[in-house]
Amino acid sequence: MQMEKTTTEIPFGRPMIGDEERTAVDKVLHGDILVHGPVSEQFEHDFAAFTGAPFAVSCSSATAALHLSYFYLGIGPGDEVIVPAQTHTATAHAVELCGGTSVFLDAEPLTGNVDLSQLERLITPRTRAISIVHFLGIPVDMERLMEVARRHNLFVVEDCALAFGTKQNGIHAGLWGDVGCFSFYPVKHMTTAEGGMLITKNKEIADRIRRTRAFGVDRTPSERKIPGVYDVTMLGFNYRMSEVCAAIGVEQLKKLPGFLATRNQNFRHLANCLKDEPRLSILDTHAPGFVSSHYCLSVVLDRSIASHRLEIVESLKSQGIGTSVYYPRPVPHMSYYKSKYHHTDESFPEASRISYRSIALPVGPHLNTTHMERIAQRLLAALPRQS
Ligand SMILES: *Cc1c(COP(=O)(O)O)cnc(C)c1O
Repeated sequence: MQMEKTTTEIPFGRPMIGDEERTAVDKVLHGDILVHGPVSEQFEHDFAAFTGAPFAVSCSSATAALHLSYFYLGIGPGDEVIVPAQTHTATAHAVELCGGTSVFLDAEPLTGNVDLSQLERLITPRTRAISIVHFLGIPVDMERLMEVARRHNLFVVEDCALAFGTKQNGIHAGLWGDVGCFSFYPVKHMTTAEGGMLITKNKEIADRIRRTRAFGVDRTPSERKIPGVYDVTMLGFNYRMSEVCAAIGVEQLKKLPGFLATRNQNFRHLANCLKDEPRLSILDTHAPGFVSSHYCLSVVLDRSIASHRLEIVESLKSQGIGTSVYYPRPVPHMSYYKSKYHHTDESFPEASRISYRSIALPVGPHLNTTHMERIAQRLLAALPRQS
């Protein structure tokens, strides 16, 4: 029995760190430069090349990258930003940290992305920006969104935390809007332990965010004629990425195309194994030219079996299969936002359906198609008998 359990262990996510990352970190630690160094520049250069971005700015996290974006825009009290109801809380927190107001937009049922048909009615004279998340790496229809944003002259922030390799018509996520913010948290598509990256097509945005990332000083250490001498021209944070993290990132990025290919293969295989069960619907895109990064495979349970979610999750867990929920509540239902904005439990019905009825299944590069078959088999067996 014990043997059986260890052999069937399928964690939801696992960082894929190898000797390449360990060697690269060791090399940094044998040198004298731990921040403001060549490795973070190399990582920015490589990430820009991977996405096709003209500019990439490394940060301490995706949350930092999002915060820097709204700080750059000068969002403050009275300013409204449209935010997805179904997302990680960081998407909205970044707006709130600047004193702005989050105006939540419900999800659409097939992908979990923002419902663009409801977007325009939320725009008011106080709206400054629209933020979207490529939900679980599934691309938002950015062509359609940008048309609305341009017409209303609104800044667009793409939360690309899970959107590595996510594309629409060949253009990488993060390059449709004004900025795109990526996360290198351990269980994301690639990791730097903690870390983030902001990409943009706009040099002025990149230059300014690069400075606000480091206290708002007017020159980097390498630009200083007299060491230690600089001026401060604006407010700023300390949101830099260290050389240690960047060294992990450079190596992880080399492996990213392989990771993405495995995710795609696992997702397709698992989706195929589950396709004949009508009580499960899979969040995915089928639009031509849309490429998902397949962060996980999220199944939404039909109303008839929704009350069995916890039992199903526990059954999978007892068989060594890790699952998760993306995201456990719509952001406006989280206590902080609920007490601030007074949204009811009935609000955001589609975001709620995903939060309260879905189970996220793993498809990461730590797994193979045999694992997918096992997950499918055990999930289908855990569903209540059809009456
Ligand atoms: C993980 C995640 C974040 C936060 O990323 P950090 O790097 O941990 O700050 C933000 N948005 C989404 C959609 C995420 O999945």
